[in-house]
Amino acid sequence: MLDILSVGCREFARFLVLSPCAISRNINYNVKTVVTYAEALEAIESREFDACLVNFDLADKSGLDLIRKFAASEVSMPFILIADEEDDQVDVEAMASGAVDYFVKDQITAPLLRGAISYGIERKRTERRLAALAGFDELTGLANRTQFHRRLHQEIAVANRTGAQLAIFQLDLDRFKQINDTIGHMMGDHLLMKIAGCLRECCREIDTVARLGGDEFAVIATHFNDHDSVEMMARKILANISEPFTIVGHTVHASASMGITLYPNDEDNFERLLANVDMAMYRAKTDGGNSYRFFDANLNGEIKRQRRLGREMRRALEGKKFFAHYQPLFDTKSSRVVSAEALARWRHPSEGFICPDEFIPIAESASLIDRLGERMLRTACIDCKERQSQGLENIAVAVNVSPSQFRRSDIVGTAMRALRKSRLNPALLELELTEATVMQDFEEAANALQRLRNEGMRIAIVDFGTGYSSMTYLKHFPVDRLKIDQSFISGMETESGDRAITRAIIRLASGLGIDVTAEEVENQAQLEFLRSKRCNSVQGYLLGRPATLNEFVESISGQNSSLSVAS
Ligand code: C2E
Ligand code: CA
Repeated sequence: MLDILSVGCREFARFLVLSPCAISRNINYNVKTVVTYAEALEAIESREFDACLVNFDLADKSGLDLIRKFAASEVSMPFILIADEEDDQVDVEAMASGAVDYFVKDQITAPLLRGAISYGIERKRTERRLAALAGFDELTGLANRTQFHRRLHQEIAVANRTGAQLAIFQLDLDRFKQINDTIGHMMGDHLLMKIAGCLRECCREIDTVARLGGDEFAVIATHFNDHDSVEMMARKILANISEPFTIVGHTVHASASMGITLYPNDEDNFERLLANVDMAMYRAKTDGGNSYRFFDANLNGEIKRQRRLGREMRRALEGKKFFAHYQPLFDTKSSRVVSAEALARWRHPSEGFICPDEFIPIAESASLIDRLGERMLRTACIDCKERQSQGLENIAVAVNVSPSQFRRSDIVGTAMRALRKSRLNPALLELELTEATVMQDFEEAANALQRLRNEGMRIAIVDFGTGYSSMTYLKHFPVDRLKIDQSFISGMETESGDRAITRAIIRLASGLGIDVTAEEVENQAQLEFLRSKRCNSVQGYLLGRPATLNEFVESISGQNSSLSVAS
């Protein structure tokens, strides 16, 4: 049974209801007839119809006015316009106003009208489907950004009515660009589909799961008991994402940074809510990724500062505000300085020195770490060459390489450019990488390390002892130095375990013919212990703090080191 509204002409009803064809095809029409525009408005607003037949001439207005009024509204029924006479102008206007068809009264037959109604209904149905489709992300089938916003508005309205709480999660994959560059865009798309699957698995049917664009996803969770259950959900999502995925036979590792905000606790304004969750996510990213962060009011100021610093860093990297301090590394046997570690320094015009523990994560999240790394490599090589010209011929330089800088495979190219520009002997350049960095993509890392080594550079693994219980990987990597993690050095005096580990690392390194260095040596007792265990070299405030190039050169000219004072 189709409900038809007929406006301004009683004959339409007769056409449909009395049509023998309609009966034979088992279609029944229930026709409501009204005469005026005003009556039509009232009828349309009071109930739903499947289609509307409108006379061009109505007593109070034109039939076109009625069609126009509903063309852009939620009412999605088809309008068919019927005029007394043929008129090209009316034909054009009818279509422009949103009518699905137009007839001249004396040309109408029952089959024609019936056909127009079914076509109109079908067309409106298709339009509805397309509109619904427009709310979905084509790749993953999740809600898209528009749909997510729509749903959030709705959920806020429901929460306001019922007093319920909402949790909004926003997450962004860590290093997706690199993953995409490495495995290719097709595989990158597969990974996004897998992530979508993960999110669906961790959420309930009633939750909204959306892909906001690129590698950014969001979830609106509506029914949860307390803060803990939101936290549990966050942990579950992150754990699922960090499980290795198999994509076309390849194992792909991913992780995500997630921001969480609660409604109405954190904010009761839609835009602020979105800004808050975005800030929390940004913070999770600068915390190092693979983590979640709840929004809190302090974050606002913190994030603003970080974003400002990110912008200022971009400019500062062009100028002279970034430079290196050098911290000496002493040979325990000869008591001589054998190397200097370059440590990045940023002198901010209004805030003074900003410490690397703050600006390195900002550089990572603002995608400036490559530029900073390149800048440090160049500076370190040029300064090292400069030291040579001042008579310090054999003092090497060590440069820290951040995980993301290393994973971009152009680290070899960057280091080579720095060496060529400074004309420094590659054997005097040592690159410091954390254990976690080289372990992440084992084969690729081994490959890159080998290429660096083939070019004559040296490799140091830092934070050694913190990451991996199996140390057999050392056999596969060309490593020249291990730097024992400072946690073992600082715990050495009180923890027998730390002493045992330090001893074991020194022995392991010596067995493999690798140099071993203790970092952050702060007192005499630590130094004595390390010396007695034949640790090759030491570094720390006890012996020398990071200093400018000139101070460094001055302090070691003649090799009168503080180590001899200390011993
Ligand atoms: P790191 O590579 O472990 O560098 C050693 C840090 O410990 C330095 O801090 C140094 O000043 C400090 N330190 C040295 N001896 C002692 C000691 O005896 N006691 C104590 N408490 N601290 C000591 P800094 O310069 O603030 O650097 C912090 C971190 O920032 C570095 O840790 C490194 O991870 C990162 N960093 C610094 N410069 C660069 C760079 O050019 N590139 C990259 N990627 N990271 C850098
Ligand atoms: Ca270091």
